[in-house]
Amino acid sequence: MATVGKVIKCKAAVAWEPNKPLVIEEIEVAPPQANEVRIKIVATGVCHTDLYHLFEGMHKDGFPAVLGHEGAGIVESVGPGVIEFQPGDKVIPLFIYQCRECRFCKSPKTNQCEKGWAADRYDVMASAESRFTCKGKKILQFMGTSTFSEYTVVNQMAVAKIDPTAPLDKVCLLGCGVCTGYGAAVNTAKVEPGSTCAVFGLGAVGLAAVMGCKAAGAKKIIAVDINPEKFEKAKVFGATDFLNPKDHSKPISQVLSKMTNGGVDFSLECVGNVGVMRSALESCVKGWGVSVLVGWTDLYDVATRPIQLIAGRTWKGSLFGGFKSKDGVPQMVKAYLDKKVKLDEFVTHNMTLAQVNDAIELMKHGECIRTVLSVSPQ
Ligand code: NAD
Ligand code: ZN
Repeated sequence: MATVGKVIKCKAAVAWEPNKPLVIEEIEVAPPQANEVRIKIVATGVCHTDLYHLFEGMHKDGFPAVLGHEGAGIVESVGPGVIEFQPGDKVIPLFIYQCRECRFCKSPKTNQCEKGWAADRYDVMASAESRFTCKGKKILQFMGTSTFSEYTVVNQMAVAKIDPTAPLDKVCLLGCGVCTGYGAAVNTAKVEPGSTCAVFGLGAVGLAAVMGCKAAGAKKIIAVDINPEKFEKAKVFGATDFLNPKDHSKPISQVLSKMTNGGVDFSLECVGNVGVMRSALESCVKGWGVSVLVGWTDLYDVATRPIQLIAGRTWKGSLFGGFKSKDGVPQMVKAYLDKKVKLDEFVTHNMTLAQVNDAIELMKHGECIRTVLSVSPQ
């Protein structure tokens, strides 16, 4: 290909500073170095974690950056030492590495590889290294992926090769939201057949958690959101009951406890709000209730009274649904192609990269589940 070994000039949405609209710029993307893969991004979802960095985390050292971490694309070229990927392969860039060598990768208990951007600085949500420049300035690579760009360069430890028949404008959602919610229910909470579950927050992550609870055989799945417009979609994914905390004067944990004879077996927080995290834990039944933090925030402490845990509840957290990234994503792509997991139903809007700020506004106002942006022609 004509671009191999050369700098590619292409379009990307640059977040120059926190709390400002993204700007579509022409950026330069350097060729892949040793063990790196340059990917033409075809489609990307917009996830709340992009909004978190831009409007909530707002860490000054985390800008300028190219956001986006829920993408899918095609390998354009590979650097020295890469044998697993070839130009033309369909791939999903991964925001957690799987090096297969560190003690975390070797343990079946976790997906938290010690390599990658997260090893540098979690708060900044990027590593010091990047192959992007714009107007002479280095641009950071958000969460090791930066999918709001026509091209990106990712370490081969953070790339999953997927089925060549997979539609990239759907399977991109497996790069974050859907694996995160589904896996949080199946892998982290380990939802049991016949159990009662509550899912707080019905964005793509929460709806995927509902889908995971159903796949695991839960009998009652209570969907909780302050936006009642989300309930209809939750039904599609298997929710059986619906609760809007705004309709109740009592704390939602008390409402749930009454509804379920003492509390739910499993709860999942998919909002990113420490108050909701507490409610989700306290909605669990004593003795064995398990609550999983999925929503993302690193700004505030989370608290509960010790007796809640002394009484036998378990509080856990889940990153990327506990999936070992390189192994899990191709399996989830296959599950979608085999019609065992839904993806199409998450996509409420399709737009282009140039409309990324409109997509962000939709999510801010709770008017979408997922907007998928088409980035480069296939
Ligand atoms: P989203 O904005 O689409 O959905 C959030 C939902 O929460 C909305 O439907 C909103 O109405 C609802 N909500 C807000 N306040 C609420 C409250 N007090 N009670 C009940 N519901 C409330 O977001 P998303 O893309 O689905 O992401 C959800 C969360 O998951 C975010 O915090 C995101 O950063 C996080 N996330 C975590 C991981 C991970 O690996 N742990 C990965 C991806 C996303
Ligand atoms: Zn995400």
